[in-house]
Amino acid sequence: MAKADKCSFCGRGENEVRLLMPGRDGCICDECAEQAYLLSEEYLHKRRKKDSKWAISSEELPKPDEIKAFLDQYVIGQDDAKRYLSVSVYNHYKRIMQASTDDDVEIEKSNIILVGPTGTGKTLLAKTIARLLKVPFTIVDATVLTEAGYVGEDIESILTRLLQVADYDVEAAERGIVFIDEIDKIARKSDNPSITRDVSGEGVQQGLLKLLEGSIVNVPPQGGRKHPEQKMIAVNTKNILYICGGAFDGIERKIAMRLNTHVVGFNGGGNNNRIDRENLLQYIAPQDLKSFGLIPEIIGRLPILTYLQPLDREALRRILVEPKNSIVKQYVKLFEMDGVKLTFDDDVLDYVVDKAIEFKLGARGLRSIVETIMMDAMYETPSSAKKKLHITRSYAEKKLEKAKLLAV
Ligand code: ADP
Repeated sequence: MAKADKCSFCGRGENEVRLLMPGRDGCICDECAEQAYLLSEEYLHKRRKKDSKWAISSEELPKPDEIKAFLDQYVIGQDDAKRYLSVSVYNHYKRIMQASTDDDVEIEKSNIILVGPTGTGKTLLAKTIARLLKVPFTIVDATVLTEAGYVGEDIESILTRLLQVADYDVEAAERGIVFIDEIDKIARKSDNPSITRDVSGEGVQQGLLKLLEGSIVNVPPQGGRKHPEQKMIAVNTKNILYICGGAFDGIERKIAMRLNTHVVGFNGGGNNNRIDRENLLQYIAPQDLKSFGLIPEIIGRLPILTYLQPLDREALRRILVEPKNSIVKQYVKLFEMDGVKLTFDDDVLDYVVDKAIEFKLGARGLRSIVETIMMDAMYETPSSAKKKLHITRSYAEKKLEKAKLLAV
């Protein structure tokens, strides 16, 4: 055993420290031991963070154009929305990384709101982003939320989902991304401040505010209603990124009204021709959301406002074949697994698009139409000796007609 006269680390003698602990070849004083403990804790904490499945390193950080390129593989068109999303997600990452370094310039988060008709890719964009991300991500539906104390889900349940996705790793959940769908459904029901209480509209917006701005929220770990016996988990929402989506049906009217007054008021009507009346959504501004019934505080917390285009014939046609997991590619793969080579005539695809438009189903309808056309073939082919299957337009028409007759 070493002679206990001075600390092998700081060199101080026995009477200069409170405690000197002897080891095999040297000694350590209480202060150096404490330092060593703190250092090893810090190291292990960093190590745990690095090993966690939510760890991101700066080399892995995807740049905005890389995020967009990734989105392009799955989502057709919607360039503006993709750019806004890519930048916001990139900044979100940077903010998270900055949080671990001490710096006085604090980057604030910029939550996003996506406005566009139903079935144009809002949820798809959010889901696709989630594939790329190394932060917990969840999608929640605003329509199920109600003010505390009413039938429906408490607003905190949003964070319960995020915690569950993060396997209750609170630190990871605090850097997560939440997609709130159908945000337009919690618009104020009327301008009249309430004859009856608006528990699923303005009340929810007020509740949501608390999550959108940075605050510590007590979250019931298993969801459901808060009750006194349940142990709550405190979650800091400061670094959680919110992406909200909504169709905002009829908002074009509000945009048109604003544009008209604007044109008359400021530009003497000169701009009128330059406005693309077919697609007014591209001019959407925060005040339109306010006219629609979102409260100004909520709008202020969603500073990035972007829109999705309605899908035209060409976009629908591209959706059938182009995305990495397009509907056509999925069917080809399904048949390939049975050793069958599946091909389609080009005009089958035009026919599917026509029907989707005719039935007013948009992109959502494409899959069900193709499914109907392929049903019999999917039933018969696995047990047949066929090695090839070619779908012609007349075959497709026949199958769809038949299904329609059956449906009547
Ligand atoms: P919403 O805008 O209502 O959230 P979704 O994102 O749920 O619409 O779209 C419904 C389905 O339609 C998607 O799962 C996808 O198959 C298809 N789809 C919609 N828009 C696009 C798009 N821009 N690119 C590729 N597929 C799309």
